[in-house]
Amino acid sequence: MPDLNQRKKRATAVFDLLDPLYTRQKTALTYKTPFELLISTILSAQCTDKQVNTVTRTLFQKYRSPGDFLSVPVSELEADIRPTGFFRNKAKSIRGCAQGLMDLYQGQVPATMGELLKLPGVGRKTANCVLGAAFDIPGVVVDTHVKRLALRLELTENKDPDKIEADLGELLPKKRWRRFSDLLIYHGRAVCKARNPDHGACVLLEHCPSNTI
Ligand code: SF4
Repeated sequence: MPDLNQRKKRATAVFDLLDPLYTRQKTALTYKTPFELLISTILSAQCTDKQVNTVTRTLFQKYRSPGDFLSVPVSELEADIRPTGFFRNKAKSIRGCAQGLMDLYQGQVPATMGELLKLPGVGRKTANCVLGAAFDIPGVVVDTHVKRLALRLELTENKDPDKIEADLGELLPKKRWRRFSDLLIYHGRAVCKARNPDHGACVLLEHCPSNTI
């Protein structure tokens, strides 16, 4: 793996090349409150943002507070979120999270990583999404795309998301963290796909040790 200086230079080049290419919208998820964003983020695991938005359009009319998610039988919640996939696990996570919000934070979504991580069903990825989009607090979001691109670009050699988060955090100033994660996510979806990455169409070609051209 390149040394820290080389990785910093590479991360900066990657940022500068991708930045003009992708939307500056902080999240494609539709939400009105940090609570809605938190629920949407939980629902977005293994599901497109578009599909989550379709489901939450009606979901958030029915469920307006953490208590609402606890006041129906779990089977009803499962049916309401079924189109997002993995609905049993997601219903469990949402109810655990809702209960945690009521027990620990008077039903309000807290604005620190430490407090968010105390909520059942909330990991660092979800917490960073919520902190970045709802509270403008910088964080590196490590999802499957960020992980794949960070490894292909040799910005990390770790596979564990928490370690990748720490590695990427070393490479760029805090104010660039969130945007950098978003750029890797967009580029992973559009060009550097899990299967058949389109090296020929990739602006990162000359900086990428994994290009096979
Ligand atoms: S050159 Fe290929 S492997 Fe490297 S970032 Fe671009 S698409 Fe991905």
